[in-house]
This record gives sequence, C-alpha cells and structure tokens, in this order.
Amino acid sequence: MAEVRFSTMARSAIKAEMAGEPFDLLIIGGGITGAGILLDATARGMKAALVEMQDFAAGTSNRSTKLVHGGLRYLKQFEVGLVAEVGKERAIVYENGPHITTPVWMLLPIIEGGTYGWLATSVGIYVYDKLAGVKRSERRKMLTAEQALAIEPLLRRDGLKGAGYYVEYRTDDARLTLEILKKAVEMGGIALNYAKATGFLYHEGRVAGAEIEDVFTGETFVVRAKKVVNATGPWVDELREKDGSKSGKTLHHTKGVHIVVDGKRFPLRNSVYFDVPDGRMVFAIPRDCKTYIGTTDTDYHGDLVHPRMTQADRDYLIDCVNFMFPNVKLTAEDIESSWAGVRPLIHEEGKDPSEISRKDEVFVSPSGLLTIAGGKLTGYRKMAEKVVDMVARDLGEAGRSFKPCNTDKIPYSGGDFGGSDKMPAFVEDRAQRGVKLGLAEEDARRLARRYGTNVDVVFNLLASGRDRAEAYGLRPDVYAELAYGLRHEMVATPSDFFIRRTGALYFDIDWVKENQDAVIRYMAAACGWSDEDTERHARELQARVMEATVVEEADTGLPAGIVGA
Ligand SMILES: Cc1cc2nc3c(=O)[nH]c(=O)nc-3n(C[C@H](O)[C@H](O)[C@H](O)COP(=O)(O)OP(=O)(O)OC[C@H]3O[C@@H](n4cnc5c(N)ncnc54)[C@H](O)[C@@H]3O)c2cc1C
Repeated sequence: MAEVRFSTMARSAIKAEMAGEPFDLLIIGGGITGAGILLDATARGMKAALVEMQDFAAGTSNRSTKLVHGGLRYLKQFEVGLVAEVGKERAIVYENGPHITTPVWMLLPIIEGGTYGWLATSVGIYVYDKLAGVKRSERRKMLTAEQALAIEPLLRRDGLKGAGYYVEYRTDDARLTLEILKKAVEMGGIALNYAKATGFLYHEGRVAGAEIEDVFTGETFVVRAKKVVNATGPWVDELREKDGSKSGKTLHHTKGVHIVVDGKRFPLRNSVYFDVPDGRMVFAIPRDCKTYIGTTDTDYHGDLVHPRMTQADRDYLIDCVNFMFPNVKLTAEDIESSWAGVRPLIHEEGKDPSEISRKDEVFVSPSGLLTIAGGKLTGYRKMAEKVVDMVARDLGEAGRSFKPCNTDKIPYSGGDFGGSDKMPAFVEDRAQRGVKLGLAEEDARRLARRYGTNVDVVFNLLASGRDRAEAYGLRPDVYAELAYGLRHEMVATPSDFFIRRTGALYFDIDWVKENQDAVIRYMAAACGWSDEDTERHARELQARVMEATVVEEADTGLPAGIVGA
C-alpha cells in the first residue's frame, strides 16, 4: 500500500527493501528532477529507488518562483526551442495535477524607456502564445494604460504606455514534487528522505550502486543498482567528484531570493512581471492572502543547504516594488518572510547570471554514472524522459525491454478528477463534506484544493482523530493535515510539515507560530522521539524560522537583523 511505503513510520521497512535485491535504477536526489525520473522509470516497468539527503524538495525545488511557465523571458535570449517545449509541458503539468497548478493572468506593463515597447511586447507575447501552444481562452490581450490601471490600480502611472496581459501557471513547487513522488511510489517505486549517498559502489569499473547513510541514525547501508542517476541539482558536481568524473562543463550557482508581504500591505490584484531599472525583470504574485516578489539573480558561493536573503537582496527587491508600485511605499518592516534558492546552471564563460541558459544537459561519466544538470521545474518531465530513455537503452542491451514514456498521461497523486474541468465541482462537493465534519468553509475548501482527490483520506483522519487532536491541543484541520503528512507524505520533522507540506513558513508564518508547539508535541508522541530528539527538532524549526525572517549581512552566514526591523 502506498501509505505504508511512503510513511515515516515505515522507514525501517523501506531501508530493508532498499538494501535487499538490486534495483534497475537508483536515483540520487529527491527534487523535481529525481521525482520525475522515479515516476517515469517506474511507469515503464523498471525497479527503481530514490534517496534524498534532506526532505524531498528541500533543495531548489521548494525555492523557485513557483511558476510552471512557458518561459516568456527566454524569448529574450532567443531560446525558441526551450519556450516551445516548456510551453507545451505546462499544459501537461496542469492537466495531470490541477490541484497544484492554477492558471493566473499576468500583467506585463510597458513603461517608457523599459526593455520592451508596445510593438515588441505585442509581437513577443503573440509569438510566445504560438510557440507555447497556448489555448484560445488564454491568449494574450494588449491593454492601454487606462485599461491596465483599471485592472491593477497600484501600477505606476508615470510613463505607463499600456500592458500585455497573458496567462502564467502558478504552482506549489514542493507539493508538485511530492505528488509526483507519491504517484511513483503508488506505482511500485520506492523513496526515502534523510538518506544521503556518501559514495559509489563499482563493479568492474562501472558504477553499481551507492552507500547510503540514514541521516537521523548515522546507520549506513548499500543500495545496489544496474544504473545510477545523479539528480542532485546544485550538488551534482559534488557527486561527480566522488565518482572521479568532474571534468568538462561544471555548474555555476546563482542565488534567487523572494520576499513575502501581507496582502493588506501590498494588495496586488494580478500577478505582474515587470521591468526594473537595472534591466532585469521581476515578478510580483498574489497568493492566498500574501504577495510575493522575486527574484534576484546573483553569483553564489555560499552554503548550498541554507542559502539566505542578505540585506542587499532585501533592499533590491524593495526598490523594485517601489519603482513599479510607487504608492505602496514598501519598507523592510513589511516583509513577513523570505526564501532563497540556488540555481544549478551550467557554466557559460563570461556570461552574467541572468544571461546563462536554463537548458538541461546529461553528462555520462566513464563509470556509467548519469548526471542530469540545469533545467527548469517546468521541463522536469522531458528531462526525466531523456534520462530514462538512456537507462532503458543501456538496460535493453541485456535483453530487457521497457514501455515508452507515458508520463504525459499519468495524473499525479490527488489529481484523479477525470480532467481539470471537473475539479471545481469536486472542490465544491468536498468543501461541503468538510463543513459537515465541522470545518469552517474556508478551511474545508483549502484542504480540498490542496489535497485534491486525496482529501477524502484527510477528512477520514479528521473524523476518526478528534479525540487525539484535542488531547494534543491541535486544531482538527491541523491534526488532519499532520496525520496525513506522517502517514502518506513522509513528514519526518516539523520543518517538513511547516515548509514543504503546507508552505506555511513562507505564506502564513503566524500559523507556524500558533501551531508549532502542538505539532511538535504530537510528532514526538507519534514518532517516539526522546526529549533530546524533540528539542533538536524544535531547534531546527526555529533555525528555519530565523532563516526566513532574519537577513544576513552578506553571504557570510552572519545575521544582520530581523527582516521587519
Ligand atoms: C530563485 C529560483 C526561481 C526559480 N523559478 C522557477 C520557476 O518559476 N519555474 C521553473 O520552472 N523553474 C524555476 N526555477 C528552476 C527550478 O526551481 C530548478 O530547476 C529545479 O527545482 C531543480 O530541481 P532539481 O531536482 O534538479 O534540484 P533540487 O530541487 O535542488 O534537488 C536536488 C536534491 O538532491 C539532494 N541531494 C544532494 N546531494 C545528495 C546526496 N549526496 N544524497 C542524496 N540526496 C542528495 C538535495 O538535498 C536536493 O533536494 C527557479 C530556480 C530558482 C533558484
């Protein structure tokens, strides 16, 4: 059963299975790239396993701008093929998981002296619509300055010549990764978080598996596999180094920061993609009751696990907002949370961070280790197809045959609506069920949207766990999400729950503060933690809260002050 195979309570059983019979494929890295590969390989009939040294999606795949986009910005770099491919991919990502991804209209203001004039914007988005195969109802509109201001009164009036209006798809990157992993596990794959690959095994010079360390216990075990894929995003060169194959092209790390502001303070009605004076472009995106703004793009040489916002990043983004939305008068006090991510780009000599291509590339080492680097959240499925095609070819030499890639037709876990058009009615129906179970309508609807067709399992946990929730001082909806996370989504630490399962650390930090004690109390009992474990997990959550709310002086690891101070 999927829940037994994707539950923190099943760690010992998962480890035993991983250390048992050899696999066809071992994937190292549980971000979107690794998750996509696990699903593709499993769906084609391979016996595949995945290990992740942190929580799933704790790397870059939880730190993006959270857009499944056609990549309009890549048109500027004339990456026509990339725009066409990812544009079509986003339709697939949406159809397979409409509970995770939502189409949103986005304004592209045209400002005097900006990067694009009216004609270039009009033609650019027209070409983008065509390349990306955008559906008729979502094709671009061109707006006059008055029309743009009517839609978005916060825009600067000074120099506004009009706007392009087009559709982007907003997503929850961490939940996208998780729902893909859950589906892969449901179909027979196996995955473990907090399991670090510390070295490779070789047989006659060929990579034949990896040594894995359980990060919680320090225990080590060996996973044997015919093929091994290094899908470790910003860490790919570290693993290539262990394999003795770090040569030729290497990674170029750049950091991207986002800030989060309350919707009352920056009441943006639409997503806006706008020019800033240094020639870059920045997003401002409303989500739930917040607005997030990003991103920066600067060379990065710091800690890959815990990249953070510096004072300079913060001030840059505040200036960007105040340039395009002058009446907002945003200040440092208004910032509630932030996140920083490291882009795993493939180095191109002499190029500025924003100019480096986001294209992906596969490196094959002399030992047979496959490394997939670069890429986008949006193009993860095609990246997986490319890698699994190579694996299938290699395994095929031993007389095995596998089905072709069919992940375009596999709904993610929670996405079994029978088509995206059926989702609104489903959400309505389940929202009413939630109300009957005693939830506020808003909470019931939020759960139905977040968990999609898995929400019935969440509601069943709610119905059967009232006494338990009360005993631990947990709100019923929080209890239901937590119990579901522990049993069906491999939540292993409070941070997993507050950051990657619910997104609350970024988008509702007060909710984290209100619920953290009860959540930790319940997790300690459910996971059998000692007092020492409990304290360690509580401290770790506090460190993540600090990371999101305290700025660094520079990329030095030294805090410089509270974000809102
Ligand atoms: C600021 C920013 C904004 C972005 N915005 C967008 C966007 O809006 N849309 C879009 O399509 N793309 C966007 N991207 C790009 C996208 O987020 C990344 O391309 C993608 O998330 C990379 O995924 P990944 O799985 O390759 O890497 P990761 O998500 O980093 O996953 C790699 C994983 O490997 C694990 N790992 C490392 N070493 C080991 C080991 N030894 N053993 C086990 N596990 C290991 C890490 O812990 C990590 O979780 C953005 C990127 C950034 C930084």
